[in-house]
Amino acid sequence: MGIDNKKVVIVAAIVIAIVGIIITSVALQGQNSSSSSSINTTPPENYTQPSQDASKRLKIMATFYPLYEFSKAIVGDKADVDLFIPSGLEPHDWEPSARDLERLKDYQLLVYNSVTFEPYMDRIRDLGYDLKMVEAAKGIMLDQDPHVWLDPVLAKEQVRIIRDAITSMDEENSRYYDGNARAYMARLDELHAKFEEGLRECERREFITLHGAYNYLASRYGLEQITIAGLEPEHDIPAAKIREIIDMARKHGIDVVYAEEGIDDRLVRALAEEINAKVLTLSPIEVLDDEDLEEGKTYITKMEENLANLRIGLGCR
Ligand SMILES: [Zn+2]
Repeated sequence: MGIDNKKVVIVAAIVIAIVGIIITSVALQGQNSSSSSSINTTPPENYTQPSQDASKRLKIMATFYPLYEFSKAIVGDKADVDLFIPSGLEPHDWEPSARDLERLKDYQLLVYNSVTFEPYMDRIRDLGYDLKMVEAAKGIMLDQDPHVWLDPVLAKEQVRIIRDAITSMDEENSRYYDGNARAYMARLDELHAKFEEGLRECERREFITLHGAYNYLASRYGLEQITIAGLEPEHDIPAAKIREIIDMARKHGIDVVYAEEGIDDRLVRALAEEINAKVLTLSPIEVLDDEDLEEGKTYITKMEENLANLRIGLGCR
């Protein structure tokens, strides 16, 4: 078979895979929305035992996992934090139901990332609840790309923004919150140092991912993200784009392609097979499911796993 014919067959196979993925993702979305109603009936997190003066405690809702963890680290045992997006659901294509919105009535502070990630903020504002809303990516987001939390340095900025919002609402405990925030930011400094050290000497700087969540991370550590899809995980991908990625992979000697948890990885696998690469996981840390939480996984441990897998794919010493 001629090289051109072979290319046509490969591209056709990939197009078939893409169509398959679109069909499955539609089917999976259906499943998600039907299962979400049963998840909604119980609060996703039960870590904090309400104290005696529960009525006076600040109640904070965080939209998705990293903001939940940052908020929780700041308030310790002096306020309550819950997760708005039901555990296990991908935030990019999630919209709150009337019942989800109703839950917000009992909260005083809503921590969200940005309207490019949680586009339903106007719907919440229109409810007229006495709810302060803090945009945790404010002033640090570039080009409508919401994924700031994947850069430990910007994650620190998010902790600062959340801390300021929380202390302004509960000044009585502000010193306690500030101390906790500093302790958590010190852990983010350590994480940043590990990334700097771990990604210093590598065979290549380019890595291939499905969804373009790693621009901030890549620019922080001098890497180049090559994405199959766009800023959101599920998109229609033109065959020419796939061809371009295959060429880039060959040019840079890339032998790892990154998939992510919770997303159909058949396209990634087809691509990996084509360039003789293996598939590893790189997590955008948009979802931590119940299993992750039971295993004690956190934003920090997930970032450390990302670093370990990046080091393999980049051939770092
Ligand atoms: Zn994303």
